[in-house]
Amino acid sequence: MHTTTVIIGGGQGGLAMSRCLSDRSIDHVVLERGEVANSWRTERWDSLRLLTPNWQCRLPGRPYAGDDPDGFMTAPEVVDVIAAYAKEIAAPVHTSTTVTAVRRTDDGYRVVTDQGEWSCEAVVLASGAFNVPRVPDFAAAVPSSVTTRSAMTYRNPHDLDDGGVLVVGASATGAQIAHEIQSSGRPVTLAVGEHVRGPREYRGRDIHWWMQAAGVLDERYDEVDDIVRARRVPSMQLTGSTERVTLDLNKLTGIGVQLVGKFAAISGTRAQFSGSLRNKCDLADLKLGRLLDTIDEWATAAGLDDAVPPPHRFAPTAVPEPPRLDLDLGRGEIRTIIWATGYRPDYSWLEVDVLDAKAMVRHDGGVVVDAPGMYVIGLPFLRRRKSSFIDGACDDAQELAQHLATFLDVRAARHG
Ligand SMILES: Cc1cc2nc3c(=O)[nH]c(=O)nc-3n(C[C@H](O)[C@H](O)[C@H](O)COP(=O)(O)OP(=O)(O)OC[C@H]3O[C@@H](n4cnc5c(N)ncnc54)[C@H](O)[C@@H]3O)c2cc1C
Repeated sequence: MHTTTVIIGGGQGGLAMSRCLSDRSIDHVVLERGEVANSWRTERWDSLRLLTPNWQCRLPGRPYAGDDPDGFMTAPEVVDVIAAYAKEIAAPVHTSTTVTAVRRTDDGYRVVTDQGEWSCEAVVLASGAFNVPRVPDFAAAVPSSVTTRSAMTYRNPHDLDDGGVLVVGASATGAQIAHEIQSSGRPVTLAVGEHVRGPREYRGRDIHWWMQAAGVLDERYDEVDDIVRARRVPSMQLTGSTERVTLDLNKLTGIGVQLVGKFAAISGTRAQFSGSLRNKCDLADLKLGRLLDTIDEWATAAGLDDAVPPPHRFAPTAVPEPPRLDLDLGRGEIRTIIWATGYRPDYSWLEVDVLDAKAMVRHDGGVVVDAPGMYVIGLPFLRRRKSSFIDGACDDAQELAQHLATFLDVRAARHG
């Protein structure tokens, strides 16, 4: 089978690309191993709501159309939005089609699937940034008396054994899961490494409203000093709830969560935690202050100071002094460990030499390096700070589709 462009992945990134290619009459298919929005159907815990407000749940040609722009969708609601979009744009999606290999050919690419093969001139990797949990190597040394799981397979606290839970990682995922489990009556210890602190609301508006308005979310990949570092920054500690709560470490310690430093190693049966908890929290407080400074400066420049409450700052993060540095996992205090240590993409099927030493695609704003006609979408800070958010797919897909169209035009001119 032949098509001009194969898009791998039927999440919002692949569908946004599909819409932008259709707008340019570029023949394509979308290959999806499950159903559209597969990761929202199968890889999220039960209580998860978007941490981005509903108005930011927009896709190319489809602004948010519901009646609760400031609310936060549940995962099934996100599935409905994405599935409706696929229908609305008549995306040529082939579901239950797993891509098992992508190879280069003399005149493009061969995409091998469990349903047959496609030849094409261009390929878009829209297979997601969060396919596989990132778990430290020493996880293998956890005593067998402790059950371990990742945030990807965690569903709800009632699935867990009674007893203590060590949640590793304090970004959005770890903070949300720690809050839910502690609230269920199981005592939580939270291992905290580098994290980004953020209030749900500031000066009467949602933090995402401010970050969008002040241009923070639109900051481009070629404008930041260190894009490699920027792409590794963890997600902001935010949760979407009807109560619009701020989910920072102070909130968690307030309900009884015990903080320890980064889970650094296991020696025998002892979990060892870094002593840098205070420093990590100070740094997060400092960075929050800088973000709020940026917002305040923008609000003043935009003439908003009289329209919103005055600037204020949040209490510094309270940290146990001295923090606990180790914990015997063999003693029964901890029954479950949940790795909320991040995710990585899975390109095990990609047989084109475009991966770096960390198995990440080498790309320049989504244009894959040394692979003409290959593109990637949906990665953190791909082209803008908002790139891995649902809202980020719009602008990225428009620009990458334009690049892809030009690539095809040049190619066609060359081939006469
Ligand atoms: C826990 C969590 C919470 C998040 N919360 C938010 C939020 O609140 N707001 C927000 O804007 N963003 C959020 N995100 C980020 C992001 O918007 C979502 O992860 C989103 O699903 C990414 O869309 P995508 O299309 O890039 O990737 P995905 O939705 O992951 O889509 C990739 C698709 O590719 C398919 N696929 C993968 N490999 C293959 C293959 N070999 N063959 C065929 N198909 C394949 C998968 O089945 C999947 O359907 C969150 C992410 C996570 C992990």
